[in-house]
Amino acid sequence: MNPDDVTLADLPIRADLRGKSPYGAPQIDVPVRLNTNENPYPPSPELVADLAEAVREQAGELNRYPDRDALALRADLAAYLGHGLRAEQVWAANGSNEVLQQILQAFGGHGRTAIGFEPSYSMHPIITGGTSTEWIRAAREDDFSLDPGKAVAAIEEHRPDVVFLTSPNNPTGTAQPLPTIEAVLAAAPGMVVVDEAYAEFAREGTPSALTLLPEHPRLIVTRTMSKAFAMAGTRLGYLAAHPAVIEALLLVRLPYHLSTLTQTAARVALRHRAELLGTVDALRRERDATVAWLRSKGLRVADSDANFVLFGRFPDRREVWEGLLERGVLIREVGPPEWLRVSIGTGEEMAAFRAALEGVL
Ligand code: PMP
Repeated sequence: MNPDDVTLADLPIRADLRGKSPYGAPQIDVPVRLNTNENPYPPSPELVADLAEAVREQAGELNRYPDRDALALRADLAAYLGHGLRAEQVWAANGSNEVLQQILQAFGGHGRTAIGFEPSYSMHPIITGGTSTEWIRAAREDDFSLDPGKAVAAIEEHRPDVVFLTSPNNPTGTAQPLPTIEAVLAAAPGMVVVDEAYAEFAREGTPSALTLLPEHPRLIVTRTMSKAFAMAGTRLGYLAAHPAVIEALLLVRLPYHLSTLTQTAARVALRHRAELLGTVDALRRERDATVAWLRSKGLRVADSDANFVLFGRFPDRREVWEGLLERGVLIREVGPPEWLRVSIGTGEEMAAFRAALEGVL
């Protein structure tokens, strides 16, 4: 066979991966990018200078492997999270996606199941499938909330090894009240993962599942520096859980998975957290204004505790998405049919979004 004619279909790939498409939002170079829930504010010159200096100091030792257990970084992350957490209750990897993958490697796998309540983060089923864990799809209510009684019933029916709750949820923006999480913890026979990638954007009165950790050794709360911390390019995700959970993850993690440069960049960012998280209030205000504006246009908008807003409903959402793109604004065609998701950008970016959407409607 001519090597140029070989396609994926010719390779002996796992049967359960055949016919699947890779995950990924389009990376299109347009003036206003509001499609991947990044923080629009770049690091300050002071942070950039500190980071460059810290990398310069480390560069002379790059012949050596990194700290395999990232102890200093985990101590810094524990201090940031508060709630009395210690370094041995925190774990870090290359983005919370890798953290989630390690959780599935340790607690999922062939013959095991994981359940999620859709619409939710589409990587949960993909990571689940990648580890040969079976994905079980349960539904949310029409307003994207989770009915605790129905969630418990689904868990009792399927007895999953892993339960995913996403709070605030992507792509809907809706958060989970603690009593729902507690009801799920009481019913779940296995691990319960609360994906809190957007926790820092939550509205006043939306508490974190971190408060439940002392009572629940099978609870894992995952976080990331990609969103509120404005460090998506660094690839640093982390979790808080019982120390025994982290012992389980050590069995599946690759040695030296977190590079010296990643650990260094994350620690510098944590030192600059006042500046980085200083943008969160502005983004929250911009989010609330976006929700109000979209509603004033007669659109349906999900309540948002995150740095994005899901709105609709459009019988032909592709047409709206393309109309915005033609006007230089990239948003995300994701979630239930007829809905679109816009990430919250700077004031100027949101003005451009509003002008473009008015042009389209
Ligand atoms: N969880 C949720 C709910 C997300 O939306 C994302 C990013 N889109 C992630 C996890 C993964 O983020 P990262 O790997 O950058 O930490």
